[in-house]
Amino acid sequence: MGKVSFGLAVAVSCAVASTGIAAVLVVRRVRRRTRWNRVLGVLKEFEEACSTSVGRLRQVVDAMAVEMHAGLASEGGSKLKMSLSFVQKLPSGNERGIYYAVDIGGTNFRVLRVQLGGKRSAIVGCDAERQSIPQELMTSTSEDLFDFITSSLKQFIEKEGRGSELLPGRRRDLGFTFSFPVKQTSASSGHLIKWTKGFRIEDLVGRDVAECLQQAVNKKGLDVRVSALVNDTVGTLTLGHYHDPDTVAGVIIGTGTNACYLEGMDAIIKCQGLLRTSGVMVINMEWGNFWSSHLPRTSYDVDLDADSPNPNDQGFEKMISGMYLGEIARRVILRMAQESNVFGPVSPGLSMPFNLRTPLMSVMHEDESPDLREVARILDDTLGIPDVPLKVRRLVVKVCDIVTRRAARLAAAGIVGILKKIGRDGSGGITNGRTRGSSDSNMRRTVVAIEGALYTNYRSFREYLNEALVEILGEDIAQHVTLQVTKDGSGVGAALLAACHSSNIVDRDGSP
Ligand code: ADP
Ligand code: MG
Repeated sequence: MGKVSFGLAVAVSCAVASTGIAAVLVVRRVRRRTRWNRVLGVLKEFEEACSTSVGRLRQVVDAMAVEMHAGLASEGGSKLKMSLSFVQKLPSGNERGIYYAVDIGGTNFRVLRVQLGGKRSAIVGCDAERQSIPQELMTSTSEDLFDFITSSLKQFIEKEGRGSELLPGRRRDLGFTFSFPVKQTSASSGHLIKWTKGFRIEDLVGRDVAECLQQAVNKKGLDVRVSALVNDTVGTLTLGHYHDPDTVAGVIIGTGTNACYLEGMDAIIKCQGLLRTSGVMVINMEWGNFWSSHLPRTSYDVDLDADSPNPNDQGFEKMISGMYLGEIARRVILRMAQESNVFGPVSPGLSMPFNLRTPLMSVMHEDESPDLREVARILDDTLGIPDVPLKVRRLVVKVCDIVTRRAARLAAAGIVGILKKIGRDGSGGITNGRTRGSSDSNMRRTVVAIEGALYTNYRSFREYLNEALVEILGEDIAQHVTLQVTKDGSGVGAALLAACHSSNIVDRDGSP
C-alpha cells in the first residue's frame, strides 16, 4: 500500500472511530436524559397524586363532619370511633395541690409533677422528665411495659426528697395519659381496643389499662392512685381550656395524630341514658382512622399500608403523622433510584423500611445551604448513597416538600372539619332568623390547643398547616381561630384531670 492510500485509510478509520465515539456519547446522553426524564416523571406523578387544592380540602372537611355525625349516632357507625371520654367537666382553675402524670403514646415517655396554686392558670410549678421508649418495649409484654412505667415513676418520686412525704391517709393522685384507642368505661378506666404507631403488646388488648397500672403501682409499693385515664388529645384540650376557656378542641400531631373536642350531650346520640353531670362531654375522635375517598392517596400510601402491621387501619394517620412521613419519602426516593441510576446502585440503606425518620427528613427539607450539604450528608450517612449531585439533592428536597405539604394541609382540613361540626367555621347555621352564609360577624373566638413534635419542631409543616387553615376558612373567619401550642399539654392536662377527680380534693368546683 502506498503512503497516500495508507494515510487515507488511517484518516477514514479515524473518522469512523470518532463518529462511533460521538454516536456512543450521543446515545449515552440520550439515555441519561431519558432516565432523568423518567425520574422527573416519578416526581410529577407523585406531586399530582398528592394534590390538595382548596376544593379537595373542603371535600375532606365535609367528609370529616359527616363521619363525626355518623360516629356519634351509633357505636361502629363510622371509621371515626368518636369515643366518649366521660370528661364532662374540665378543671375550673380552683384546684390546689400536687398532682402527677405519666404520658405514654408514641416515641417518648414522660413523668410529670404539677403544683396547682388554686387560681386560674396558676400552675405554680411543673417538673417533667422525658425519655425515649426503648424499641423492644413496644412489642414486649404488659408486665414489661408497666414495670418500665412504674420504675420511672418511683425514681421520679424518690428524687423529690424530704418535704414531699404524704399526710396520713393520703395518696398521690396520678393522671395516666395513654394515647392508643381505648374504650373508656369511666373517666378513670377503659379497655385497650387496639395498638397503633408500631406498638404490639398482645396480652394488653381488651384489658383495663388504668387497672393494670394501678396493680403495677401497688406491686411497687407506691402510694399512688390512678385517678384519671386520659387520651393525649384530652389532656391537651384540658390544659388549653385551663389557660383559655375559648378552647374547644385538642389536636395531636406527633408520632401519631388524633383530635378531641367539646361536644354537646344532645348531639351524642349513642350515649343517651348516660348520667349527665353537665351539658357537654369531651369526645375523643380517634381521627387517625378517618377515611374518605376524597383523600389524595398515592400508590406509595397503598404499599405502605399493605406492608404495615395494621393494613386498612389508621389511613389518615398514615398520611399525616411523624411515624410515616419519612417512610413515604423513602419509598418515593427508592422508586426513583429503581427507575434510573441517578442515585447510583440501589443501596441497602435506601431499601430498608423506616430507615428515613421524619426528623431527618425535615432537616433535608429545611436545608438552607446553597449546595444542600445536609441533604448530601443524610443521604450518605443514613441511606448509604454517596456523592449525590446537586440537582438530584434538589429533587430529594422536593419529595420531602410534597410529602409534608400534603400532610399539613390534610391536618388543617381535619381541624376545620371539627369547627364545621360545632358551627365554628363561619358557614351555614341560622342566626337571628337569617342564614349566616360566609359572614364573620357572629363568629366567636375559637381556640384549638395543639401539641406534638411534628407540629412544634417542623417549621414547614406548621407553616403549611396554618396557611391551609386560612385558605379553607377564608381570612375573615380564620382571624377568629387560634391554634395554640400547649407544651406538655397531654401530660399536664392529665395531672389537671387527676386533680379534678382527686379524693384529696381541696376545691373541685368547675364546669367547662
Ligand atoms: P409522642 O408522639 O411520643 O408523644 P412527640 O409529640 O414528641 O412524641 O412526637 C415525636 C415525633 O415527632 C417523632 O417520632 C417524629 O416523628 C416527630 N418529630 C420530632 N421532631 C421532629 C422534627 N424536628 N421534624 C420532624 N418531625 C419531628
Ligand atoms: Mg405525645
